[in-house]
Amino acid sequence: MRMVLVALLALIVAQPTPAQSTDNERAIQAFSDQDFDTAERLWKQWAEAHPQSFVPWYNLACSRSIRGDVEGAGEHMLTAIERGFSDLKQMQTDPNLRAFRTTETYRKIVASWPEFLDRRIDTDLEQARKMYGPRYNYTKDEKYRLAFVSAYDTITSRQAREEVRKTADWAIRTVFPDLRDGDEADLDPWVLVILPTPKHFMQWAVQTYGAMPGSATSQLGGAYAHDQKKLVTQDLGSTLRHEFFHVLHWRSQDRLGQRHPVWIQEGLASLVEDMDRTNRGRWEPAASWRTNSVARLAKMNRLIPIDRLVSMSRDRFANNRALANYAESRAVFMYLHDRGKLADFYRRYTETFGQDPTGLTALLETSGEDSAADFDRAFRDWAKGLPEVYEQNSPPSLGIGVVLDISPGDGPIVRQVLSRSAKDAGLRPGDILTGMNGRSVRDLNEFYRVLTGLREGQRVEVTYRRRSRHKRAKVEIVSQRN
Ligand SMILES: [Zn+2]
Repeated sequence: MRMVLVALLALIVAQPTPAQSTDNERAIQAFSDQDFDTAERLWKQWAEAHPQSFVPWYNLACSRSIRGDVEGAGEHMLTAIERGFSDLKQMQTDPNLRAFRTTETYRKIVASWPEFLDRRIDTDLEQARKMYGPRYNYTKDEKYRLAFVSAYDTITSRQAREEVRKTADWAIRTVFPDLRDGDEADLDPWVLVILPTPKHFMQWAVQTYGAMPGSATSQLGGAYAHDQKKLVTQDLGSTLRHEFFHVLHWRSQDRLGQRHPVWIQEGLASLVEDMDRTNRGRWEPAASWRTNSVARLAKMNRLIPIDRLVSMSRDRFANNRALANYAESRAVFMYLHDRGKLADFYRRYTETFGQDPTGLTALLETSGEDSAADFDRAFRDWAKGLPEVYEQNSPPSLGIGVVLDISPGDGPIVRQVLSRSAKDAGLRPGDILTGMNGRSVRDLNEFYRVLTGLREGQRVEVTYRRRSRHKRAKVEIVSQRN
């Protein structure tokens, strides 16, 4: 019983406000002490203070069901669904709802689940329209069950949708073949993808995480809140891909009824942050600033032993050397991908989840290593040989003849035009760089990564945006201090 509630708690932990977590924790404690009156009182209090949240209503339904009031359970469950509860599997398996599951109301809810989901996304879109107004554009992607709410011009919005589709195609082919099943697809909840203006992004960030210093908001690219089925990002490249990968991974976990540990969730999502077209013409995970750091750690013999990485709590993962944890988890999956074992791993892992939820057993099996120590050795040798790419922290003395700056938005912003060739090409301060050499460039790290391997004197085509006009220009790679 507690397990399920903890799982539910895990859902809201995605983005708790302090008030929510303490109230809910106290209520859950009361509930597990079978002090249902107190638990229900706390949940009702919380529901009043947070009219948007479905969690207290879902939990109230559980409490009512346990106490034998199946009718009350049904009413609360319908309210929970109205407020956005959309995890069918949870409702079908939560032991707290056993009594409720014998009712006609329950049967009706299950039978009309696809309609619930469709109605939910329409309500979400309507609310978004009210909040963001007619200047945003609103589009639905039926295939991937996404609704886009975008502050950008039509071309940029389309590019973002294509980026998402490309990521989905790759992920489903390479990691989640189980998501191809069309029959189950209409039970996948829709997800709202919001690409806001910098101002709206800031408002969302403050509302979600509380007030924070400006620097912290600019470092926050975006987030996916699975409880709300809402993805918000101000970066149309690596963050969009990373967060969208979480969407797919949650779909897979929900269908399987599993909750995967943080290293798998973040490692897989980080994999798609940097992708490139390879010589073989495939779009694949690429070496990046993250693998740079893994190569450095490997050479210093300071990689985190795999048995420690796989058992790390979310808290520790995110707060103690987070960058190294993300980088190494990503690299482990890149290592598997390099060997063509990524899909094998995920299949094997999800099959044996019951025996070893950490994933270590499946990792050793698929990589063919006998022990964690053997894996560490093989992984370290591989990591030492990772190719180095240019990155923001140690930029090369090469460029396209302009000074670029981070811009919260769809690409780095041109601050100053330095070279003759960039001037002649028509680049101006304020232009947003969006691509180079046919590859998309959405932030400075991506720009430097794409610059890797280019030589002084070479001419490249860049794409850029000036307000809602999209342009291209040929510029020369020049030597410059960045
Ligand atoms: Zn993530």
